[in-house]
Amino acid sequence: MRAVVLHEHGGPEKLIVQSVPDPVPGESEVLVQLEAISINHLDLKIRRGTAGYPIALPRILGLEGAGRVVALGSGVTSVEVGQRVLVLPWKRCGECVWCRSGQENLCARSRILGIHADGCYAELVSAHVEQLLPLPNGIASEQAAAIPTAMGTAWHALHAVARVQPGESVLVMAATSGVGVALVQMAHQAGARVIAAGRDPSKLARLSEFGAETTVSYDDPQWIERVRQLTDGLGVDVVFEQVGGALLPAAVRSLRKQGRLVSYGASGGLSVAFEDWQFVYRNEFRILGATSCTREDVRQVLARVCVGELRAVVESRFPLVEASRAHQLLESRAHFGKVVLVPQ
Ligand SMILES: [Zn+2]
Repeated sequence: MRAVVLHEHGGPEKLIVQSVPDPVPGESEVLVQLEAISINHLDLKIRRGTAGYPIALPRILGLEGAGRVVALGSGVTSVEVGQRVLVLPWKRCGECVWCRSGQENLCARSRILGIHADGCYAELVSAHVEQLLPLPNGIASEQAAAIPTAMGTAWHALHAVARVQPGESVLVMAATSGVGVALVQMAHQAGARVIAAGRDPSKLARLSEFGAETTVSYDDPQWIERVRQLTDGLGVDVVFEQVGGALLPAAVRSLRKQGRLVSYGASGGLSVAFEDWQFVYRNEFRILGATSCTREDVRQVLARVCVGELRAVVESRFPLVEASRAHQLLESRAHFGKVVLVPQ
C-alpha cells in the first residue's frame, strides 16, 4: 500500500510517500481501507518531535480516519467485512480506575494510532476493534473523519467539564480552529450566548452562521473590555481556551466572578505566567482542564452530525500523497475548520 512515513523529525518535507507492506490485522484487530483521514495539530507536533511522546521511527502518522472494513483478525465478531467504520485515535486499557468509571479519556495507558502504532496516513490501517464506531450511510467519510479529535474534544469540554447551561455567556478563543468551530456550534445549541475570538476578521465573520452572536479580535488592544461591554460589564460565564502562553491570563480577565476557564490545549506556549494571582482567587475563578474525549462523547457527536444538528466542517482536502502540503496549510493557520487527506 501507499503510506506517508516519518523517518526523522523535522519540517513538512520529512513526510515521505512510499510503498510499504499491507498491515496484517492481529488478534482483535480489523483492517480498514481508508476513504478519508483527518489531520490534527498533534500530527504537526509528532512530525516536529515536540509532542511529548516517545515515538519509534519510522512511523506512519495519522490519529483517525474513516473507511470500510476489508479484513478481520482472529476473535473479531462485532464488525463485518464491507461495513463502514470510523477509526478512533485511541485504544484504552479498559482496566484502570478511569476506564472502569467511564472516564477513559484520562487513561494513562492509551495506545494511540500514529504514536504507539502505525496510523492513518495510508491506504490501509489495522486498528483494534474497540477503536471502531460503525458509520450510518447518511454521513460522508470526510465528515466522519473530522469528528473524533476536534468535535469529540469540544463536546467533552463543553458538556462534561464546563457543563454550560442555557442563558450563560461563552467566549470561545481560537474560534476558527477545528475545535473552535465545534465549540461555537455546540455552545449555541446548548442555549448559550456565544462570543467568538480570533485573529482573522474574514474567518471570524463566518462564525455567525454557526451561532456566534458576535466576534472579537485579539489584535484589538481593547478586546477584553469589549467582551465586558457585551456582558453588561460583568464578563463571561465560561471561556474555552486552547492557546496558552500570554493569551490564557488575558482570557481569565474576560471572566465574570466565579466564571470558569476551560483550558484544553496550549498551542501558543506551555509556560503560563500570571502577574496577579490574587485576581484569580479573589474573584473565585474556576480554572478547569479538559483533555481528549470518550467513545461516548464521539458517539453523541456522530449522532448529531448524522441528523444535521451539528456540522463537521471540512473545507480543505488533499490527496494522501500531498500530506506535506496539508501540513503546511495547517501550520499557516490559513484554513477554516478541518483539513483531511483522501487516498485515491
Ligand atoms: Zn485505562
